[in-house]
Amino acid sequence: MVEGLPLLGLGYGVWLFLREGIRALDVGLLVGMYLLTMTGIELGFHRYYAHRTFETTRTVRTLLLVLGSMAGQGSAMLWSAVHRWHHAHTDVPGDLHSPTLGRQGLWQRVRGFFWSQFLWYLDSPAVATFSRFLQLHRADPEAVLAAAEQTQEHRLVRTIPDLLRDELLLRLNQRYGLWVLLGLALPTLVGGLVTGSWEGAWRGLVWGGFVRFSLVQQASFAINSVTHTIGTQPLASRDDSRNNAVMAVLTLGAGWHNNHHTFPGSAFTNFRWWQVDASGLMIRLLERLGLAWDVRRPSPDAIAARVRP
Ligand SMILES: [Zn+2]
Ligand SMILES: [Zn+2]
Repeated sequence: MVEGLPLLGLGYGVWLFLREGIRALDVGLLVGMYLLTMTGIELGFHRYYAHRTFETTRTVRTLLLVLGSMAGQGSAMLWSAVHRWHHAHTDVPGDLHSPTLGRQGLWQRVRGFFWSQFLWYLDSPAVATFSRFLQLHRADPEAVLAAAEQTQEHRLVRTIPDLLRDELLLRLNQRYGLWVLLGLALPTLVGGLVTGSWEGAWRGLVWGGFVRFSLVQQASFAINSVTHTIGTQPLASRDDSRNNAVMAVLTLGAGWHNNHHTFPGSAFTNFRWWQVDASGLMIRLLERLGLAWDVRRPSPDAIAARVRP
C-alpha cells in the first residue's frame, strides 16, 4: 500500500493539472527538487556510495546522503547493496530486477519490462526487511559480515562491508525517514513562503513533493528496465545493458548504462564527446574546487579494448 503512494500522488498531480493547469512556481519546484534528488541518487548513492568512484569531504558526503535519501528509494545502505548485487549478477540468476533474465519471446519480454519498471521491489522480501535487519545487527557489524548464513539479507550485507564500517554513514542512515520527510517539507515550505498562502504550500507539496517523488522513482527504475532493453551496445559489457540518450538526460548520466556496466568503477559514464553526463560534469567541478579527489577514470586504451568489433 505504502509503495503505491507515490503513484497516487502522481495521479493527483495529473488531475490537478487537467483541472487548474500548472503555474511557474509549481514547475520551478518540480524541476528544482527533481534535479536535487536525482543528483543525490546518481552522484551520491550511485557513483559515491555504491561504486566509490571518487573521494570527497564529510560535508559533501553528508549532503549527498541527505539528497539521495530525500528521493525515497530506500536508504543509502539498501540502495548500494541492491545495486552492487545487480553488478555482480547482471541479467543472470540472482539479479533482483533484470527485465530480460529467463524471458523468451515478445510477450514474456514485455512482462519482464513492466515487472522491472514497477514491481520488482515488491517481489523481493529482502528489500522490505533489509533496514530492520541492519537495525538488528547495528551493534556488531563485524559479526553479521562474518556470519555464514545464506539468507538474501546476509548476501546483500556482504556486498557493503565498507559502508557498514563508515560511522558517519551509519549515523546519517539511521535518520532515513527524516530525510524523506525533509524532501516533502522543503517544497511545501518554499511554496507557502513565496505565495504567502496555505494553497501555495499545498501545491508545493504536490509538485515538488509527490509528483517529483514519482518521476524520480520512475526514471531511476527505468535504468533497470529501459536501459537493459532499449538502446545501443557499443562496448562489450557481457550483459544486456544499453546506452540510451533520453535516459541519460533524465537520470543525469546513468543512461549511458552500457558504458557504465563495462566500467562500473569509473566516475564518468560518457566515453564520446557527444555523450552528456551531467553527474560527471559535477564531479569534474568538485575536483576543480578541491572537493573531490582520487577520481577514477578508465584509460583511453582500456576503453578502446572493450569496443565491440
Ligand atoms: Zn544495470
Ligand atoms: Zn552501477
